[in-house]
Amino acid sequence: MRIILLGPPGAGKGTQAGYISKNFNIKKISTGDLVRSHIKENTELGKIANEYYIKGDLVPDKIPTNMVKEWILNQIDSKWLLDGFPRNINQAESLNNILSSVNSNINTVLFINVDTKLLIERLLNRQSIENRSDDNLETIKNRISIYEKETSPLIGFYNDKKLLYKINGNKPIKSVYQEIENYLKNK
Ligand code: AMP
Repeated sequence: MRIILLGPPGAGKGTQAGYISKNFNIKKISTGDLVRSHIKENTELGKIANEYYIKGDLVPDKIPTNMVKEWILNQIDSKWLLDGFPRNINQAESLNNILSSVNSNINTVLFINVDTKLLIERLLNRQSIENRSDDNLETIKNRISIYEKETSPLIGFYNDKKLLYKINGNKPIKSVYQEIENYLKNK
């Protein structure tokens, strides 16, 4: 089972990725977590990424693409989950190339859909708990507009490939997970 989690910022992708990974015993990679860890460690890559991250912009494609490529090529296990990648069509095409180079493919794309008003509420609430530097109102609005412009075309991209499964992410976290679990169990 090879899964992509798609959805706007604040959709709960990270939380759901954690549940799926634990309950289905599959490895996951979160490009957002990796970017944050580079920024925290102040690596050369982290310094470049931070200029985009703090504004809520996407970091240049080659940064997350190389991270994911290295990770996928090192996976012996054929079960995995991508959280936060791909974020645009260019990244999705790179991912296809990486996977076809090892005769692999994606089985399913879980699209967690959430109303914009609720996203802003959730992200502001997260800011007061996690203190993420990209969770302030101005940055949140930019991240949502970037999602709409750059990432949402992936919905059609994967729908055309018959890989998309849409989930109502306005529901409580546990109900969202329940829906995901039911779907994956029957896959
Ligand atoms: P996330 O934790 O997935 O919301 O990601 C937080 C931030 O990390 C994003 O706003 C981007 O600046 C950066 N980021 C994470 N994944 C990617 C990606 N696949 N492409 C470009 N930027 C990314």
